[in-house]
Amino acid sequence: MNAYQKEQLEALQMIRRYLNQLPDSENKSLKAEIADYLEFRSCIANFLETRFKDICTEKCYHSRLSACCSKDGIIAFFADVVINALTAENNDLDRLEQAIEHPANDFKCIFLSETGCLWQVKPIVCEMFVCDEAENRAFENDPEAAKQWETYREIKKNYTWPDQPVLFEKLESFFMAKGCSSTLMYIHNSPGLLRIKQNRKK
Ligand code: SF4
Repeated sequence: MNAYQKEQLEALQMIRRYLNQLPDSENKSLKAEIADYLEFRSCIANFLETRFKDICTEKCYHSRLSACCSKDGIIAFFADVVINALTAENNDLDRLEQAIEHPANDFKCIFLSETGCLWQVKPIVCEMFVCDEAENRAFENDPEAAKQWETYREIKKNYTWPDQPVLFEKLESFFMAKGCSSTLMYIHNSPGLLRIKQNRKK
């Protein structure tokens, strides 16, 4: 396993271990905490399905030119892993662990299986990645859709961008308070994101 696989596996296993030990009340509170985000994700999923499915299928799957899902290229935040673990069934998470240890494809993302991405709620970076060509084609005659996509990009920041206390930070803090530590806790570790936090309006 390379370093990327190791850090993904460690984070997932740690999160699963802690979630399994949590009292029901805390598990319910965590699920309540992410409910609004899941609703946002479902809006994005519907939008992408309507606007991009045909374009991406033609461009990336039929022509095999896909730049998506490239090897070790995806940045999964610790909160992405928590949200997915809270949402997925145990056997889905087992499959994720197996994929990390034994990826199906040597040249693509370790989470990509023959039937697609193995995450139930895939990392936000993946969900909101649309290549320039797909974006141009989807929006060239539809300025309203382009506006809606911009709005979603802005809303995303309310969950992930730490110029204010955000869900992704709260989830890291919750696990840190339990003694967990992970290299995927970027909001507490990344120099760039720490600077954003320092510059918050007092
Ligand atoms: S996590 Fe899923 S969507 Fe993201 S790059 Fe990997 S296979 Fe693709």
